[in-house]
Amino acid sequence: MTEGRFGIYGGQYVPETLMGALCELNEAYKTYKDDINFNNELQSLFNGYAGRPSPLYYAAKMSADLGGAKIYFKREDMNHTGSHKINNVLGQTLLAKKMGKRRVIAETGAGQHGVATATAAALFGMECEVFMGRVDTERQALNVYKMRLLGAKVHAVDSGTATLKDAVSETMSEWARRISDTHYVLGSVMGPHPFPEMVRDFQSVISREIKSQMLAAEGRLPDAVVACVGGGSNAMGAFYHFIDDKQVKLIGCEAAGRGIDTKETAATVSTGRVGIFHGMKSYFCQDDFGQIAPVYSISAGLDYPGIGPEHAYLYESGRAQYVPVTDDEAVEAFEYVSRTEGIIPAIESSHALSHVMRIAPHMRDKIIVVNISGRGDKDCAAIARYRGEDIHE
Ligand SMILES: *Cc1c(COP(=O)(O)O)cnc(C)c1O
Repeated sequence: MTEGRFGIYGGQYVPETLMGALCELNEAYKTYKDDINFNNELQSLFNGYAGRPSPLYYAAKMSADLGGAKIYFKREDMNHTGSHKINNVLGQTLLAKKMGKRRVIAETGAGQHGVATATAAALFGMECEVFMGRVDTERQALNVYKMRLLGAKVHAVDSGTATLKDAVSETMSEWARRISDTHYVLGSVMGPHPFPEMVRDFQSVISREIKSQMLAAEGRLPDAVVACVGGGSNAMGAFYHFIDDKQVKLIGCEAAGRGIDTKETAATVSTGRVGIFHGMKSYFCQDDFGQIAPVYSISAGLDYPGIGPEHAYLYESGRAQYVPVTDDEAVEAFEYVSRTEGIIPAIESSHALSHVMRIAPHMRDKIIVVNISGRGDKDCAAIARYRGEDIHE
């Protein structure tokens, strides 16, 4: 495959002003990714700071209740800052430090990636500025407070629909304005090369751990790995080391919102088409004129109108399967897993759990691993509201 491409997907569709920064980043990443000292430093941050390895937990009660497959949870919700995002952020911030950058910028939707980036910036003593759609700053006031507490500056973005896609565009412009001392910590396996590959590599610690933990627990590989897909970083991380193990099914769960037959959806593979946006060729939700369509999901972490280019390739080649899950189904899984296992999953992860609830009963003697990408504390007020209860958060 040519550098920066996954089949026809990926690439670097950016203005000239950004090419220098991308080339510098690509060279630095190529230098450090196989550097023993870099990898040792990152591993010790993973272990000592983020709390890795995250457990692979056998969900015995849920497995028995559904009466089919054995279900394991990969507990990314146990990480510092509450999700898989910290894996990528520690990797990129360490790289930025090695590159001599003293300032990091990031986009954020729900605020999880912004909080993780502000956390790493505090740890490394770097300046941090986060761009967030104004609508999201209002919906996620607690995360805005956390970012400020951690020493970051938060900019509310008013352009477009004032949500995640606009925050990404604004952060890219800011990077182009100030490349010399600044690194853009992109939050998922998307954007121009080398981001999709680099973020996937930092997140691939998830499947590396699943593989050895599963071999220790069961003496064999799982039959399926299931993860939710926003931009696709937790899913790529959970899939990556299984791509060559053809007997392992890889299943990505997209946010269908109110349904894929409505306009209130964020299910990119089910409803989107090939296009070019945010520096990459991939699948995007588009209107009849090829403009990026407004997207909707109950889950702020999944309402991005595209998917990473490697997912587009895995879909097209048939190696991975992508299924839509609605708000209603995800909320049911959120409640079911909370009362069945005593684990409150993120509403994003609940999309993957919902699909597991569908397929597990038909998979007797099989093993499923579902990636719990984050914890659900942040979602409790919104889900209560969805059920008609106001808990005055
Ligand atoms: C951000 C987020 C996601 C979606 O991002 P991906 O890049 O698709 O992984 C999923 N789950 C949680 C908990 C998140 O915070």
